[in-house]
Amino acid sequence: MSGGEAGVYTTAYLLSGVLFIRSLGGLSRQDTARRGNRFGIAGMVLAILTTLSVWASNKGVPPLGLGVMIGAIGIGASVGAVLARRVEMTGMPELVAMLHSFVGVAAVMVGISSYVAPTEHIKPGMELLIHLLEISVGVGVGAVTFTGSVVAWGKLRGTFSGRPLLLPGRHLLNLGLALAMAACIVPFAQADGSAGLPWLLAITAMAGVLGAHLVLAIGGADMPVVVSLLNSYSGWAAAAAGFVLGNDLLIVTGALVGSSGAILSIIMCRAMNRSILNVVFGGFGTESGATSAAPVEGEVVAMEAAEVAAAVAGAKEVVIVPGYGMAVARAQASVWELTRTLRERGIKVRFAIHPVAGRLPGHMNVLLAEAGVPYDLVLEMEDINPDMDRTDVVLVLGANDIVNPGALTDASSPIYGMPVIEVWKAKLVVVSKRGMAAGYAGVENPLFYLDNTRMLFGDARKSVDAVIQALKAG
Ligand code: NDP
Repeated sequence: MSGGEAGVYTTAYLLSGVLFIRSLGGLSRQDTARRGNRFGIAGMVLAILTTLSVWASNKGVPPLGLGVMIGAIGIGASVGAVLARRVEMTGMPELVAMLHSFVGVAAVMVGISSYVAPTEHIKPGMELLIHLLEISVGVGVGAVTFTGSVVAWGKLRGTFSGRPLLLPGRHLLNLGLALAMAACIVPFAQADGSAGLPWLLAITAMAGVLGAHLVLAIGGADMPVVVSLLNSYSGWAAAAAGFVLGNDLLIVTGALVGSSGAILSIIMCRAMNRSILNVVFGGFGTESGATSAAPVEGEVVAMEAAEVAAAVAGAKEVVIVPGYGMAVARAQASVWELTRTLRERGIKVRFAIHPVAGRLPGHMNVLLAEAGVPYDLVLEMEDINPDMDRTDVVLVLGANDIVNPGALTDASSPIYGMPVIEVWKAKLVVVSKRGMAAGYAGVENPLFYLDNTRMLFGDARKSVDAVIQALKAG
């Protein structure tokens, strides 16, 4: 490759890096998120084209080789596009977890293949040692990400129990696995040629067990943070693959994903009053392993849609709390219609968003934005909680754990300590859900039995439509 060509490629990589940074900047706010996505797409297209050109010009790749590569990218991109179009918003977290697992498995494959079939000449001595260390770390982080993401995927879609698996001596097991992996690096780095492969495979296997075990030990209110933490791990796995391949852009991009995922995990932990150590070290500090809450007493009182319509029509301030059930029912458009109907009558309507509502960070914001709800009506939990006691009616739509008062009072609950939207302080709370099923954490909700709570049973969309009809008829 000539000096001029190298300069063009470096500039193209730099531009991709800048586009990725602008993408992250855009994604940090709802109103700029679409633009952020466009920057990300442009950066990725440029990165792929540049990498293909570098590869072809370095190796003098025959047209067939390039054709195979473009064909593989085409197949992958088509499958991805079809899956992304088909996926329901409720299935998004599983898709994200699955995509993280792909990054993990890719890092493992890059590490193993560059060990058994190296394409670059690495000088023996320090350079080789560093390269082998990069391979071991890349394969280890990749395998942790892979199995951790597969377990997270299973937990999110209900294939595995959402409850934490708290094996006795689990921290010792984790520590033992980490030490054993570190110990395997020594004979791996000392072996000649590719004779160290069994050690590399042993590192891969142990990292795989560690990743699965770490995520199996997480449950209840910590699962959302695990998803964002795995996002961070997938970034570090990509950065490690970048070191192995000597690709600067992959290192930069991986580090961007790794650090932004880590920052999001810390922000979520703070917002939910959870310990980041607990999440990183698989249930560290969760010695009791609380999996059930105290039994709930009281009476459940149902309300008909017409009565709910009368209640909201007579209110001055209404707060709507959307949860996972709103996503399941795809009720967001109906909810926005209800909001418009009430606002036309001079009633103040706002939305209260919990940081872990739904199954994905920002899940509810995305759905409400999709329905056209203006951003200024959508408030974060800490901004709306102080207004709860002067709210006339709170409409809880398919939410459960995020409005559970037991999270503040019941130390035996797996969600104890998680801040929640304090809906019970309002004059009237109407809960729209299909039955009395528990939420993601699997615990009973005392809210449903309080004197000022009424249950509006049925699918959230049908219930909201019935309330709108009753309002228009009345
Ligand atoms: P929950 O899962 O606590 O509760 C959802 C409720 O919706 C259920 O009780 C269900 O009751 C009801 N529901 C389901 N379908 C419908 C429907 N069609 N119409 C009406 N209601 C319906 O959801 P929340 O949003 O309150 O809390 C989120 C939970 O998910 C938290 O525990 C959080 O930790 C966890 N989580 C969040 C992640 C994130 O990043 N946001 C990621 C992973 C987990 P019923 O069946 O009786 O209708």
